[in-house]
Amino acid sequence: MKENLNLQKTLILRFCVCFFVFFCANFTQKTVAQVVCTERMPTSIDGVKTKTAGQTAKFWKNGQTITIKFLAGSPFVRGKVQQYASEWLKYANLKFEFVADDAPAIVRIDFQQGGSYSYLGIDNLSIPATDHTMNYGWLTDQSAEQEFSRVVVHEFGHMLGLIHEQAHPDVEIPWDKEKVYAYYAKQGWDRQKVDSQVFYRYSHEVTQYSAYDKLSIMHYAVPKEHTIGGFEIKWNTVLSETDKAFIARIYPKGNTPTVTNPTTGGGTTGTNGGTTASGEILPRNLATGWYGIPFPKIDAAVNYPNGQTYMFYGSEYIRWDYNEEAYLTPKSISEGWKGVNFSKIDAAIYWESTQKIYFFSGDEYVRYDIAEEKVDRGFPMKIKSGWSGMEEFGKIDAAFPWKDKVYFFSGNKYVRFSFTDNRIDEGYPKNINKTTWKGINFDKIDATLVWKSPIIYFFKGNQYYRFDMNKDSTF
Ligand SMILES: [Zn+2]
Repeated sequence: MKENLNLQKTLILRFCVCFFVFFCANFTQKTVAQVVCTERMPTSIDGVKTKTAGQTAKFWKNGQTITIKFLAGSPFVRGKVQQYASEWLKYANLKFEFVADDAPAIVRIDFQQGGSYSYLGIDNLSIPATDHTMNYGWLTDQSAEQEFSRVVVHEFGHMLGLIHEQAHPDVEIPWDKEKVYAYYAKQGWDRQKVDSQVFYRYSHEVTQYSAYDKLSIMHYAVPKEHTIGGFEIKWNTVLSETDKAFIARIYPKGNTPTVTNPTTGGGTTGTNGGTTASGEILPRNLATGWYGIPFPKIDAAVNYPNGQTYMFYGSEYIRWDYNEEAYLTPKSISEGWKGVNFSKIDAAIYWESTQKIYFFSGDEYVRYDIAEEKVDRGFPMKIKSGWSGMEEFGKIDAAFPWKDKVYFFSGNKYVRFSFTDNRIDEGYPKNINKTTWKGINFDKIDATLVWKSPIIYFFKGNQYYRFDMNKDSTF
């Protein structure tokens, strides 16, 4: 279970394509100038493939002060940059400290003619101090107000770690591809480059996603000359509601935990899962509640004693590091968990008194020793050999420990298993419904997670509930 803690925080990629086409100033202008906005990478700025291989999140530490200085620019444009940069700070828990020209600064803004771009998030830290990290290629004292807003807010979005929206997996742009190829050929791009820079979309399997938002400031315009049927996305010039909500999740203000806020209580139950006392609609969405999670759903989840949460999907797992407030890069299960050679995990439970983790897959299970960092001798075993009576219950979907019991979920049923007596308690199985698990409107469960006792998470597909075992209700 040794994992690389070298700050390899994984993606929170809402989107990503390293490139931004830009029509100068006047939207009605017939001859358009092209300016590339690049999310600059320290090692390579050429193309998506290099970048996606890394897929590491670039976010700053929540609450951090980021020092910024100008390498050039009139007092007027400097003032405009400061003004529009601060739009993000209404929602993000960060501080921008604009320092004197001769002082050291993390972010160094230049106004060299040409492209506008910024390095992504903490990549800024690895740029030589003699270089600029952000550039505005066309802003001048004559630039329109809207132009300052559009470009500055966008570039500062990159600086905060955000990437382009147009590569969202749900993007459906009816490109007229030949026209797009011809257009970019004029600036020397071959078809392959256009494919990777303009048409590239992430798959649901590897990306992260709040809902696709065509109003995002991180979306570039799509001129109707490049599409079929007059489809068009105009320039976005201000933060969208999704932008605001998203950045507030990444850099939450106050003491709100980054992942979740298990503090409210007293939810009510409605027809579709209800709402919380504060009006939040249940069930919650996985991608927004666990923002940045690189899995579309979860097969199994388990909490380690040290506050690390492991989540499993297919042959991979990911760790949520509570202290780092970040996901570490997905790894293969067999690589990270010695002796766990299942192609997928159906369910996992952490048994505190013995410091073991049980992994279930199909009709087998293994017992993993945390101290030894390997599977105990003699495993895998058949579930029926170790868990008396469970063979009749069928394949396990999810499980969690509760005191000296284990709850197992399978299809639309669940049982309570007595660990000490090694048998299913009387009266089980029962149906999974809104009465037996008050407020949970799932007909089956993919995964459960003991967060901090008595809080249990119930996952199904891309949704989840939080359940308070003591209060016997969702919240
Ligand atoms: Zn950009």
